[in-house]
Amino acid sequence: MTEDCLFCKIVKGEIPSEFLYEDDMCVVFRDINPHAPVHLLIVPRQHIRSINDLTEADAEIVAKMHMVARDMAKKEGVDTSGYKLLFNVEKGGGQVIFHLHLHLLGGWEEK
Ligand code: 5GP
Ligand code: ZN
Repeated sequence: MTEDCLFCKIVKGEIPSEFLYEDDMCVVFRDINPHAPVHLLIVPRQHIRSINDLTEADAEIVAKMHMVARDMAKKEGVDTSGYKLLFNVEKGGGQVIFHLHLHLLGGWEEK
């Protein structure tokens, strides 16, 4: 059931979005409602509902998402100042888009 999934539509280009990065496994775009000066979403091309739905076959995708996040943090200039990587899982965990995505948040002023 992916036809009504917003992120499937973005990934397939059915909703125009600016990708900061893309490869055969995932795409990266800015969050429309940023919670930090830098707020990116790392989204697999494959429709996976949440972390709860991962199988062993998805291990490569999940590893890749983290390495893409690390590379994007560097590209955005927040690697040394620091950043957060976050998965919201299901409603109680704050998930509102039920297509797996990794939040990259950073760019706050250093104290
Ligand atoms: P969740 O709460 O599911 O972990 O996060 C979903 C995120 O997707 C939210 O931070 C929200 O702002 C973002 N978002 C929702 N719709 C869109 C959209 O159409 N475009 C983009 N770029 N981000 C979106
Ligand atoms: Zn989807």
